[in-house]
Amino acid sequence: MTLPRGESPRRSRAVVADAVVPSNWTDARWRGRVRGRLLAWFSHNARRLPWRDDPTPYHVWVSEIMLQQTQVATVVDYYQRFIAAYPTIADLAAADEKQLMRLWEGLGYYRRARSLHAAAKRLVETSGGVFPESYDEVLALPGIGRYTAGAILSISRDQRLPVLEGNTVRVYSRWIGLRQDVATAAAKQTLWGVATAMLPRVGSSRFNQAAMELGALVCKPKGPLCDQCCVRAECQAHRLGLQDQIPGKVTKIEYQSRREFAFVIPVDGGGFLLARIPDGQRWAGLWDFFRWTDGDVPDAAAAAMALTRRSGIDVRPTRQLMTIQHAVTRYRITLEVHLADAVRLADVAGNPERLRVVAREELAHWPLNTTGRKIARMLTDQQDAAATKPIVRRTARAKVRPPSD
Ligand code: SF4
Repeated sequence: MTLPRGESPRRSRAVVADAVVPSNWTDARWRGRVRGRLLAWFSHNARRLPWRDDPTPYHVWVSEIMLQQTQVATVVDYYQRFIAAYPTIADLAAADEKQLMRLWEGLGYYRRARSLHAAAKRLVETSGGVFPESYDEVLALPGIGRYTAGAILSISRDQRLPVLEGNTVRVYSRWIGLRQDVATAAAKQTLWGVATAMLPRVGSSRFNQAAMELGALVCKPKGPLCDQCCVRAECQAHRLGLQDQIPGKVTKIEYQSRREFAFVIPVDGGGFLLARIPDGQRWAGLWDFFRWTDGDVPDAAAAAMALTRRSGIDVRPTRQLMTIQHAVTRYRITLEVHLADAVRLADVAGNPERLRVVAREELAHWPLNTTGRKIARMLTDQQDAAATKPIVRRTARAKVRPPSD
């Protein structure tokens, strides 16, 4: 190649590389070859998954919501328990929120469960619990975006709709050798174009599932198994040796460290004080031990004072029980769990929707987040039973209603 006068070879290579616009996917013969090889592979390699046995719109909907941000291996048991508890949309609409959140406990991203519940209620009100057939109606339901609407209708009803999620973004980027950052609008437009063009006239259900399955089992984020891949002969990333660099670099996440504090408050009579996490907060709808998560405080005493100001219940830490390290989004959290004394517990009886005293043996039935469950296990395992005996006394003798549901 002749270089323009005055330009270094390095600069010219960069310009040439940036100028590459993937075009193989615009060739109908290439698409036909890739489609045929992928579908043949899928016939022999599709995993047996419970929502594939009977792919009704409701089953696919529940599975797709659960699979957002969550691995298939984790979802399977949750899905089976969920469908057993709520076999129809009407059953889900009539679900008790506490029971629903308990079933979802551990899956994370709890807004998904509340959106499912809200959407089921709306469907019962508007259509007698029948799932809609139109893409726009599905897209209008709470918690359903472009990808999920396409996935539900293509998989359950074989509508010719594309899907683009983590697996297919990676697979299609590699098939076409896309070197752009996939977060850019231009890259997304290209990928939606590929996802649409690849669909067969009939059989979008199988094609979409096959593409996602290839991403999950073969075209993995790190170390794709190109030697075993059914489409390697057609794959531009493999041909160029760029499979480890495509999709383009993801911006590095800057993790931040922070300390948070939880307080185990025993109440005489053998229970522990739990608070319902309000809407709009992390883990909304679950229950939790008293916990300070809202920013930096120097120690447990300061966290307790902040909680006291907010709740009106005077929280007084007595000693530390345990430390839990965990991560939430970009935060690396050190959670200090303290035993605490408390006064002015009269508020509990007057506010059963927000505060409850829960007996040690009942903790297993309450929906808690992951660290709340660890604390509950520590209490129920009796590891520190002596220390958590009700050293705290209610200064106001309030009658506390036990959980009724
Ligand atoms: S050849 Fe490699 S990079 Fe290309 S689709 Fe297959 S596994 Fe992915």
